[in-house]
Amino acid sequence: MESSLFAAEAALQIQIPESALPRIVVVGAGFAGLELTKRLSKGPFQVVLIDKNNYHQFQPLFYQVAMSGLEPSSIVFPLRKMFQKKKNVHFRMTTVEAVDTATRQVHTPIGSIQYDFLVIAVGAETNFFGNEHIAQKAIPMKSISEALYLRNSVLNDFEKALSAKTTEDRQSLIDIVVVGGGPTGVEISGALAEMRKFILPKDYPELDAGKMQILLAEGSPRLLNGMSEESSQAALEFLRKMDVQVKLDAMVTDYDGEWVELNDGTRIRSKKVIWAAGIIGNKVPGLPEAAILRGNRIRVDRYSRVQGLDNVFAIGDIAYMEDEAYPKGHPQVAQPAIQQGRNLAANMLRSLSVSGWKPFQYKDLGSMATIGRNRAVVDLPHYKTQGFFAWLIWLLVHLFQLIGFKNRVFVFINWVWNYMTYDQSLRLIIRPRSPRHNPIHQG
Ligand SMILES: Cc1cc2nc3c(=O)[nH]c(=O)nc-3n(C[C@H](O)[C@H](O)[C@H](O)COP(=O)(O)OP(=O)(O)OC[C@H]3O[C@@H](n4cnc5c(N)ncnc54)[C@H](O)[C@@H]3O)c2cc1C
Repeated sequence: MESSLFAAEAALQIQIPESALPRIVVVGAGFAGLELTKRLSKGPFQVVLIDKNNYHQFQPLFYQVAMSGLEPSSIVFPLRKMFQKKKNVHFRMTTVEAVDTATRQVHTPIGSIQYDFLVIAVGAETNFFGNEHIAQKAIPMKSISEALYLRNSVLNDFEKALSAKTTEDRQSLIDIVVVGGGPTGVEISGALAEMRKFILPKDYPELDAGKMQILLAEGSPRLLNGMSEESSQAALEFLRKMDVQVKLDAMVTDYDGEWVELNDGTRIRSKKVIWAAGIIGNKVPGLPEAAILRGNRIRVDRYSRVQGLDNVFAIGDIAYMEDEAYPKGHPQVAQPAIQQGRNLAANMLRSLSVSGWKPFQYKDLGSMATIGRNRAVVDLPHYKTQGFFAWLIWLLVHLFQLIGFKNRVFVFINWVWNYMTYDQSLRLIIRPRSPRHNPIHQG
């Protein structure tokens, strides 16, 4: 009985219109998969784009959604809208569970799909480094829904703090520990400090805003490890000026929802830990074992081909490609993902056989992080700057990277409004709920 059911499920095929064109299945509509699909849509292929969500997410601005600064809809873009006019692009919202490279099939809960060429662009998820307690109790920020969860959680704890029975309980509800001193941890700490300064005294005058403590714990000796020493130092100074406690060489070893433990034995009480300490590639079972490396990254050659396979490619955060300039692979940030998508598309548009393809060459366009209003750090290939001018560069770059004209306009208006008023009206605790919870719907 069970085996015949499984056979029926395995035989179920995702329905895609018949086509004589070679079929390229792209898994993941992040920076890499989206760039690739947009470019392939102009070529003689049938492209099937699969993503578990029906939207593209702009991860660099998640922290502004979490801090009630932007609407989620301003930084996500519906995939169907993007490909409305592309007759050779078919989108399916589902999760890829496995790949069968022998039969050239991708398996999902809604059926399987045959490919001629497969591109894996599934990105990464939060890495809790195997600590189950931390995975259960800390709050990650690797998707728009997690950013919204964090927004609710911060606001909800402020509400609860008002009726806390003891001073210690109140303190643990308003204090926040951020783990990870990369751009995400630095940016969210700066945004929390601004919330404490500008919002808390107005919205929650009964809570003593000055007592809220924000602690940023970083395991290495410096912040912003991928950036220059000047930027790292400037970020540290900016955060300290904003009264964020920064603890360097501080590894969080455990968290039970109440107490955070550090490697030096320190224990800090906090109901909220924001985990921005690392990522690990999303797994796609079925690929050759030898191609899967540390952090679940997939080893690819300079043409993005997965080791040992001619017609399967990997791009973006999930891909591990070595070259002379990057002997340990490229940084897992947006630009390598976009550029790999672009290079693979250009090669496929040239021909479907690798002869004549151009190897990938990463062009570093620089990196940046912002620390509240008026302050950012920017490392461009031949120029470094920190402070107000860097902040203007950060604003412009992020605005232009956003997908969709409407999103750019909305984000710009929001930023101008927030800048002038030191306020916005998105501090809403909205919890999605099934209509079945509503008595009106109960039969
Ligand atoms: C909070 C945060 C802030 C960041 N800030 C910056 C920044 O300022 N600058 C910068 O350059 N980079 C930043 N990054 C990193 C950057 O966002 C990533 O490097 C980039 O998104 C990688 O692109 P990608 O296409 O490889 O993966 P992603 O953009 O992560 O896309 C992967 C896609 O695959 C889909 N997917 C995953 N698994 C499956 C599956 N099994 N089946 C179907 N679909 C699947 C996902 O839904 C997603 O749409 C930030 C990341 C985070 C989390």
